[in-house]
Amino acid sequence: MSDIMSENENEKFEVLYSCLKCATVTSNDELSRLPEIKCICGFRVFVKRRPGIVKTIRAV
Ligand SMILES: [Zn+2]
Repeated sequence: MSDIMSENENEKFEVLYSCLKCATVTSNDELSRLPEIKCICGFRVFVKRRPGIVKTIRAV
């Protein structure tokens, strides 16, 4: 089961994912070549990162 692949928005550009645990950045293309969606650390939860769109979270 891969939740991150369920979002199909016809994106032509490369989508990057960063591991929620170790923050290793992996490209969508790279992940699709793997037998299963999984980080090198073994964690399976990724955060989608769009190039050009930077979300800033302010710590108050
Ligand atoms: Zn990881």
